Amino acid sequence: MKRIAIDMDEVMADAVTEHLARYNQDHNERITKDDLQGKWLWDVVSVDRHAALESYLRSDDFFDVLHVMPEAQRVIEALQSRYDVFIATAAMEVPTSFMSKYRWLAKHFPFIPASHIVFCGNKSILRADYLIDDNPRQLKRFEGEGIIYTSPHNIHVNGYRRVNDWLDVEKMFLG
Ligand SMILES: [Mg+2]
Repeated sequence: MKRIAIDMDEVMADAVTEHLARYNQDHNERITKDDLQGKWLWDVVSVDRHAALESYLRSDDFFDVLHVMPEAQRVIEALQSRYDVFIATAAMEVPTSFMSKYRWLAKHFPFIPASHIVFCGNKSILRADYLIDDNPRQLKRFEGEGIIYTSPHNIHVNGYRRVNDWLDVEKMFLG
């Protein structure tokens, strides 16, 4: 079986929506996903507010409330019948997130065994045939084929096969 590694934030979990909501509420702003085309949230928020951006990610309940990307559960479960599926999240970027990320996966993806969840930093360590990820930095150093999952920040990135949603993933791997 070929092995697929799947990123969590912005691929399985809609983190940007919650991040924007918390930031906007506390700072009385109205930044939307449309403002993030080709940019990270960090690029549009002034430097003096970056600590606040970090603090939302570190808060205990941040990951717990994230919505699942549409169709992710159904498609990932289907992928498991034809591929060896691993979840690979750069959890080291927010070490306080381990428990809540694990809880979130157990709640929404109970069919993914703990043995197939990888909390990592640099994803070049992964040995998989494919990595589905929104982050070009991780795709670049991955040794298999990187598949870019569309997120506002990466819309101008080329050089990878691209999926816009989980229906695209289904077509690519199960079609
Ligand atoms: Mg991600």
